[in-house]
Order: sequence, then structure tokens, then C-alpha cells
Amino acid sequence: MSRLVRSEGLVLRTRAFRESSKIATVLTRRTGRIDLLARGARKPGSRFGAALEIGTEDSFIYYERETKTLWTLSSADILRSHQSLRENPATLTVLARILKLLYYLSQPGEVNNRLYNLTLAVLNALETSKASDALHDLFIWRATALSGYPPRIDEGCIVCGKSEAINFSVSQGGFVCSEHSQGEKNVFRLNIQERDILVRLSDVPVGEIKGKLSSTLSRLIRQYARYHLHADEKLIP
Ligand SMILES: [Zn+2]
Repeated sequence: MSRLVRSEGLVLRTRAFRESSKIATVLTRRTGRIDLLARGARKPGSRFGAALEIGTEDSFIYYERETKTLWTLSSADILRSHQSLRENPATLTVLARILKLLYYLSQPGEVNNRLYNLTLAVLNALETSKASDALHDLFIWRATALSGYPPRIDEGCIVCGKSEAINFSVSQGGFVCSEHSQGEKNVFRLNIQERDILVRLSDVPVGEIKGKLSSTLSRLIRQYARYHLHADEKLIP
């Protein structure tokens, strides 16, 4: 039994299949990460056109089969092409890293609409913003939280509750006071501004991100994500 379904989705990667087809891995709102077979997609003048470029958001129509994991794509209409991100080497690198992390964080059949919405907001902002490094950091920070590892940053020291905690413990996932950062590995020493920026980064509207994060904050975010997501430096440089 197969049925025709429609879902919005984001193209994460594609690979060649047989002589003239492509398999696109897509993160959908409906069924999480899926593989779609696009017949004839590598033929000149294919009806899929540019809809299967990585980072494109499309409205997909595909045949869902209960017994198969590779489904057949019927049509793909572009909602947001994000073309400008692929034309610039700097944003292309950020785009590729975001999509790679998203692939790692998503599963077939598992829907995470908040992660989907975050990704779209970041890709849309990247098109007009000059703050591509900060947006990349924001994505890593929030994607880690939305994948089940939210930092505890709305309280004081996570050990004793003391309010003047400004050091951040990667393994404990929150701020620690000077007493409770003694002897701890993986503690980042922050100043007040860095602490406030880190707290704001969790809920500031994505479009308001400007400038660049300090190198300490950028390293903290990446180390936090690698530690909790069990990721290596190839996935999160
Ligand atoms: Zn403490």
C-alpha cells in the first residue's frame, strides 16, 4: 500500500542514483528525516529543477510506503531557495555545517518542529545578515538545547544557588560560582557581559543577532554541544 502525502521539508543532502536519478535526504515536518528517490533528476531539464539543491525548503509530494524506507518523490515546489547562501563561500560553509549537524540530530520518523523552525529562522537570517559566525554559534547552542540538552542558565550556581556565578561548567551544563568551579575540568571563565550574552542567546529573536561572539563564548558553545551530543570536531569544528 502506498499513499500520496504532502509535507514541507528542507534538503539536507543529495546523492546520485543509477544513471539519471537522485536520492535526496530531506528533513520533513511530517515524518522527520526521509530519503526520497527523484527519478530523472539528473537529466537536463528535469522537472525538479533547482528544488533539490541543499538548503532549499520545498513543498514535497511523495508516495509513502509502509514497507520501504526509500520513498518516491512526485513533486517539489520551492518555498525558499536560499540560493544566495550557496553563492558565497563563507555562507556556504556555514550552511553545509548546519545541514550536517541537522542530519546528525534528526531521525527517520522523529518530528522536531522547534528544531525545524530554528533552522529556517537561521537560514533566512543568514541571507541578509553579516553576522554569519554568530548565527552559526546560535544555531549550535539552541539546536543542542532542542535536542534534549538545554543548559540551566536561568538560575545561580547550579551547585549552591549563589547568584554571582559567572563561570560555566560544560559537563554540568550551567553556571557555577568560583568555589564550585575549583578543580572542575571544562569550566569556562566568563566576564559579566559574556554571561549575559550567553543567557540572551537562548531566546533572542534570531533576526536581532549582530556582530560576533567572543572566541571564549564560541569555544564554550562548541565544547558544550560536542560534549552533550557526543559529537567530534569534524561534525562541530
Ligand atoms: Zn556554588
